[in-house]
Amino acid sequence: MVVTATARSRQETGTAHSFDVEEVRRDFPGLHQEVHGHPLVYLDNAASAQKPQSVLDALLSIYRDDYANVHRGVHTLSQRATDRYEAARETCRRSLGASRHEECVFVRGATEGINLVAHSFARPRLQPGDEVLVTQMEHHSNLVPWQMVCRQAKAKLRWIPLLEDGSLDLDRYRSLLSERTKMIALVHISNALGTINPIREICRLAREKGVPVLVDGAQAAPHSKIDVEDLGCDFYVISGHKVFGPTGIGVLWGRHELLSAMPPYQGGGEMITNVTMESSDFHVPPHRFEAGTPHIAGAVGLAAALEYVSRVGWEAIAQHEHRLLTAATRRLAAIDGVELVGTAPDKAAVVSFTVQGVHPHDIGTILDHEGVAVRAGHHCAQPIADHYGVAATTRASFAFYNTLDEVERLGRGIETVLDMFGDPNP
Ligand code: PMP
Repeated sequence: MVVTATARSRQETGTAHSFDVEEVRRDFPGLHQEVHGHPLVYLDNAASAQKPQSVLDALLSIYRDDYANVHRGVHTLSQRATDRYEAARETCRRSLGASRHEECVFVRGATEGINLVAHSFARPRLQPGDEVLVTQMEHHSNLVPWQMVCRQAKAKLRWIPLLEDGSLDLDRYRSLLSERTKMIALVHISNALGTINPIREICRLAREKGVPVLVDGAQAAPHSKIDVEDLGCDFYVISGHKVFGPTGIGVLWGRHELLSAMPPYQGGGEMITNVTMESSDFHVPPHRFEAGTPHIAGAVGLAAALEYVSRVGWEAIAQHEHRLLTAATRRLAAIDGVELVGTAPDKAAVVSFTVQGVHPHDIGTILDHEGVAVRAGHHCAQPIADHYGVAATTRASFAFYNTLDEVERLGRGIETVLDMFGDPNP
């Protein structure tokens, strides 16, 4: 890969730059390849994003230069690895707007963070008849764990329904919130619809009733600056692989007083202060929740990713992605037979759609032959598909490295699909 002087300085020195999409693309080696003889158009970012060179460099360097197990060692390599691992936690703290680094627990991803809170925080507090409130637009990761703990505790799972455009019915939220509500868990940005939920307002209303809120930020972290204190939530989870970092690492942020009062989720090494044959004393957070050897390189790579995006600049990212969303929405909506699924006024750059008479898997396969990578299915949010009465949709999800030319390639790809399947309105 050719790294220009400006690109190198953005990757390494942290100086702010005006946004130039072609320059940014040079930082991502994975984008520069052909698929079926066409330049790759990668529009599956909501599933997993490509990685900038600075993340690949960080992974190589922790394994090559500073690799040993963390926390337990007195030798130099172990101390260097520990320093890099803990420095990564500090970067996560800064990136999430948290006040204490002890509030950032390294987990495998958003899924593990949510399960940890469901089982360690909510489960012991839930009594029969209590209610947990989720939404109809949750990823299965933020639905199934709550179904499980509600069943165990004989608590009731309730949900805020969707309006037709894919936003939440906030009047229903107000009426569902009651003394029985013991926990709210909801997504910040929907992976299937792109809807951005009004988290600040939802947390404000929850706080008036003293109800803790977990926010699933898996899709928000790649698109916007997160500030957990400003949002007013109690728990927030992100996944590294969606925010241009490695797979198998994520962060659970939780308020210190809540984490401190929670029992461990898993037992093992690293999470104890003293062990006898009969019992153990547990570490303080975050180590209490990080049993076993952690994903050291993952944490370091995630920190490199978070530093990278903050150097690109959230303002520039938001403006560019807004242009992409507007262009993609217009281009697809203008094609006869295409129906957009999810048209909330406040949306991230995610476009889900159906094409009359063509199964999304066929669309995905034909687009792949044109070099365009999209996702087809229910996007692990089956209740959303049920709400719209469809089995599946095709989803194009954008990142800041996508271009308006790529939007056009998507549009032309859909037209090719329609040509192959015939006119939907003969
Ligand atoms: N929540 C949302 C909104 C998601 O989009 C995803 C991943 N598609 C998850 C949770 C789960 O993330 P992970 O698989 O990284 O745990």
